[in-house]
Amino acid sequence: MTVHIIAPEWVATVVSAPGNQVGLFKDFAIAINTQGKIEAVGPAAAIALAYPAAPTETLPGHLVTPGLINLHTHAAMSLLRGFADDLPLDRWLKERIWPLETQLIGPDFVYDGSVLAAAEMLLGGTTCFNDMYFYPESAGRAVLDLGLKANLSMAIIDFPTTYATDGKDHIKKGLAARDALRGADGISFSLAPHAPYTVGDETFSDVVTLAEELGIGVHCHIHETNQEITDSLKAYGVRPLARLKALGLLEPSLIAAHCVHLNESEIEWLADAQASIAHCPHSNLKLASGIAPISALLKAGVNIGIGTDGSASNNRLDTLAEARTASLLAKGNSLDATVLNAEQTLIAMTRSAAQALGRSNEFGQISTGLSADLVAWDLTDFSVQPVHDPISQLIYAGGREHVAAVWINGQPVVRKRQLVGSTPHRVLSEVTARIPLWHNRVGEILSAVA
Ligand SMILES: [Zn+2]
Repeated sequence: MTVHIIAPEWVATVVSAPGNQVGLFKDFAIAINTQGKIEAVGPAAAIALAYPAAPTETLPGHLVTPGLINLHTHAAMSLLRGFADDLPLDRWLKERIWPLETQLIGPDFVYDGSVLAAAEMLLGGTTCFNDMYFYPESAGRAVLDLGLKANLSMAIIDFPTTYATDGKDHIKKGLAARDALRGADGISFSLAPHAPYTVGDETFSDVVTLAEELGIGVHCHIHETNQEITDSLKAYGVRPLARLKALGLLEPSLIAAHCVHLNESEIEWLADAQASIAHCPHSNLKLASGIAPISALLKAGVNIGIGTDGSASNNRLDTLAEARTASLLAKGNSLDATVLNAEQTLIAMTRSAAQALGRSNEFGQISTGLSADLVAWDLTDFSVQPVHDPISQLIYAGGREHVAAVWINGQPVVRKRQLVGSTPHRVLSEVTARIPLWHNRVGEILSAVA
């Protein structure tokens, strides 16, 4: 079998081993087969002996990790970047985002915004993202054109949107998109009831039944702000998570975005259910939503991934930067410098996120049989020297400017800070040329609303 080999100075397999939970090895190499899967990973000398004729890419001073996974975003909102800053969530939604979305969204908006988001993420070392938006078929086309991977969560809201009339119609359209993209490489689907305050009990029950029938996950914004908890107590007499628990949503396949405000019982419920959290610290800070209790969640054993949220509330889709903030914030908030250490932070962006998506058998670790979705981080630059500990260097000193190369299914998709391949180049330049048109449209809508 033909293979090619990547031989960096360090490999972080993120395969758990006793005393080395992040699987960091020096002078290891990765052999990749023609199917784009990892054929073998081991000491470089042994790999060279096993595959003497294989072309080898040697990367001195580089660390190779699994591709990063952005566990919560709204890719299309890249076109709304910077239009709704310095507002609390309630006003952010009602005064800016919803009026803009009502008039703007459609297949073209979602495609163009998702292309920009996908390009930004790829160049920053993110090889898969968990999206939540309308017109998932258009987001899927963007994903296929740029050559990365995604879980497309079909957005469901109980009130009419430009996309659909009610909860059932949102579900129907989401399922049609799933059918249209069936078999598309690298794409999975889940159901995304937007939030407890935009979705009623009946629709949540439909979602639970359908998720079980189809064997797919559920992705929902949960306990993002104090306001939604106060409102839920008034409307339902219970906090949102108690309501969702009663409706049967707390399952291992649940990805709960945000979870900023949790009491002790709620942390236990999430742990008992083996649900996952998409922690989005920049969005939570920027919208002044609060700080998620990451230390307590980790102690309880809750699976935690990192999400950027959309560009309208972050405003960058930089998974590594998000993870660095997550780590620092967890320490500052718990007054414990050992919380969410560098190794745990890398795990959250890779293995834990793949587990949350139910795709651990596809990617998230550098392990035989998994897809070769990899990032090479250049640690030769003076700004990340000297390297005492490559993982610590990546998390606390590194940035997306240190991405030297990205491979998906063993194929290079980023080299020298540029996308590789004619389709991604063409698509990105076409979409970039349309940005001024979208900019003008947003300006017109906002001036009419003001
Ligand atoms: Zn969100």
